[in-house]
Amino acid sequence: MITNKKYDFETGVYRPPSEGGASSLLVRLTRNCPWNHCTFCAMYKREKFSLRKPEEIIGDINVMLGIYSQVEKFSQEMGFGNKIHSAAVSRFLKSEPDLYYHSGVSMLLNWILAGGKTVFLQDADSLIMKTDQIVNVLKHLKSTFPSIQRITSYARSRTIVKKPTNDLIKILNSGLDRLHIGLETGDAQLLKIVKKGTTPDDHIKAGQKALKAGFQVSEYWMPGLGGTLHSRDHAKNTAAVLNQINPHFIRSRPFTPRPGTVYFEHASKNKEDRQTPSEQLLEIKQMLENLNVTSKICFDHAGNHWKSLDGRLLLNQSYEGYKFPEEKDRLLDLLETGIELYN
Ligand code: SF4
Repeated sequence: MITNKKYDFETGVYRPPSEGGASSLLVRLTRNCPWNHCTFCAMYKREKFSLRKPEEIIGDINVMLGIYSQVEKFSQEMGFGNKIHSAAVSRFLKSEPDLYYHSGVSMLLNWILAGGKTVFLQDADSLIMKTDQIVNVLKHLKSTFPSIQRITSYARSRTIVKKPTNDLIKILNSGLDRLHIGLETGDAQLLKIVKKGTTPDDHIKAGQKALKAGFQVSEYWMPGLGGTLHSRDHAKNTAAVLNQINPHFIRSRPFTPRPGTVYFEHASKNKEDRQTPSEQLLEIKQMLENLNVTSKICFDHAGNHWKSLDGRLLLNQSYEGYKFPEEKDRLLDLLETGIELYN
């Protein structure tokens, strides 16, 4: 809790791994998840969803600008010209000791030092806001920080399906470049079991619609979500849905039972349904074998933990991943090596 209201702005907790590595600015448009029923997800379970007022969000951006301007002024005074130097950031923090207790200030200062290029809009489904409100926030953000090169957000497939195409185009033209969509699985039965609130058809429509509007689309799939019981159908049907979308990125976010979720209790009780590491890799291989796309396949989440014989990670965790179809055979060979190793 900071007492200095001059520097008060709100920051949420979650963002995709790629937005951490890029030192993205986190701008909170809404709080938590408007759906919040997925049985595997612990992220916002104890939190209630709320929309934020556009003037509150714009106020946050103005506070961030105030901090930026102060650091920039210190940099100039210290002889670094227009380049923002880490010494100026340290001087700023020393001048405002209150900010050590600020939940978002280190994120903002890292972003400034990284050149202020990328932004992630929080929390789980920013497109649920009214279109004209998102447009106003995006315009204000881009005009306040002209260094911004990319803005991304999470979006639910159901929300994209409901949003008129012209609204999506307006949002895109105002600066939102990339949508991160939680596909999880393309299997209809498994989507119902985990209460995702979407169907394979919703996922296909949403992905195709977002691409047609002009967004970069990043689809997250969850290997292992169906345990051993649903593994084959999960792999086959996820590939079938992704083949119809052909997004820019397909990102693996392996299933991990999270305490406090319904699915954690299920996984604890049904130990025979748990996959071994070899079975996990086999399921990923089966999904990728059926994939006929020109996407980049990424393993940029820490849950992709499998190691090769030399102790290094089996799969590259870069944000750009493996380009299909060019690197498909290489990736399948790596997975085969891992399956044999863990067998
Ligand atoms: S839609 Fe996303 S954030 Fe919301 S409950 Fe499901 S997985 Fe969690």
